[in-house]
Amino acid sequence: MGERVTTKGFFDYQSGAPVDPRVVEEMLPFFTTSYGNPSSLHAAGDPVREGMELARNRLAALLSCDPAELIFTGGATEANNLAIKGAAMKMRRKGKHIISSVVEHRSVITPLKFLQREGFEVTTLPVDADGFVDPAAVEDAIRDDTILISVMMANGEVGTIEPVGEIGAIAKNHDVLFHTDAVAAQSWVPIDLSTLPFDMVTLSSNDMYGPKGVGALYLRKGTRVEAVLHGGGQERGLRSGTENVPGIVGFGKAAELLKEEMPAEVERVRVFRDRLIDELSKIDDTALNGPRDRRLPNNANIRFAYIEGEALLLMLDMEGVMLSSGSACSAKTLEPSYVQLAMGVKHEEAHGSLQFTLGRWTTSEEVDHAIEVLPGIVDRLRQMSALRPGMEYDKSQFSKHDHGHGEEE
Ligand code: PMP
Repeated sequence: MGERVTTKGFFDYQSGAPVDPRVVEEMLPFFTTSYGNPSSLHAAGDPVREGMELARNRLAALLSCDPAELIFTGGATEANNLAIKGAAMKMRRKGKHIISSVVEHRSVITPLKFLQREGFEVTTLPVDADGFVDPAAVEDAIRDDTILISVMMANGEVGTIEPVGEIGAIAKNHDVLFHTDAVAAQSWVPIDLSTLPFDMVTLSSNDMYGPKGVGALYLRKGTRVEAVLHGGGQERGLRSGTENVPGIVGFGKAAELLKEEMPAEVERVRVFRDRLIDELSKIDDTALNGPRDRRLPNNANIRFAYIEGEALLLMLDMEGVMLSSGSACSAKTLEPSYVQLAMGVKHEEAHGSLQFTLGRWTTSEEVDHAIEVLPGIVDRLRQMSALRPGMEYDKSQFSKHDHGHGEEE
């Protein structure tokens, strides 16, 4: 395994992961010697077409699907848009009702809002205190005019692995399409599409140590969607535009590596996750966001009472520890996390959360360093905090002694 730029503690894999050097190596010829357009009929197109098809076969092998069921896109946002807007447009004569959840990524929530403005109806299901969507609530929400259900496979912010197998089976029974955004789950939970009842699955290259700006939508054979981008008709007419060939080649190599390395990596990283949760829970007035069981092996999300997460982030950054306070995608807005609010966490408390996401280059030393520096920083910030202990504050959601171990499914 190659090197990455070393830090004292990089815990923000969910926002941006290094590209594996073995992936970079595979991509390089596709910038220089194999530069043709895959649609060209002359010889320059041949190796490029072959490179792309190898990538498609490798991703299909990871997911146990047919390579023809994969559409390469310019990232997961685009794949989510294609799945949701594409399915809605295709089926709008059959019905205009869609079911989703309150904890989806913004690239699902925002296309759904767009569709609402276009006359579709969306039922947004709540989650429980651990972030789980209730499959029974999904079934109850299905109507005669329901055309699509979209629930993410796992929430990368709070680590909850959603019961998507059950939800997919319910959708199938009712003859409704089921889409799942698998971006946060794909590197940590095996996805076997020969058995899972999913019609559409969103995938991202960078979340498996491939390059950014490349993704894919799995479309089960027979699932029909309308294109969102129109043009030259590439990717079976569903994603026009000259393909990002080096990116796709890198995505394929990343998928091949993931298939080989996932089982051992899950075990390795889970130990770090549990150490972070157990050790940081020893700090007074902390709570774990998300569940103990059915939790992503690479996610620890801890809430610290009386503290602003942004202040924590800045002080940790000075110690070489890098992470996010909530969803990386809304980090710049300084809004409290809508995921945590949906789980019943109070506004001021949602601000004091740290989201650790671990990955292929996380080391034991990095974990030790975070555990070493955090108690002192928390202490200092609490002494300065307007919300400090003794002040008016609802502590009902915090406990000091909640140190079990969780196993994900
Ligand atoms: N879905 C989920 C669950 C994500 O975490 C992200 C961001 N990593 C996306 C979709 C969108 O990915 P991108 O910004 O690469 O399009």
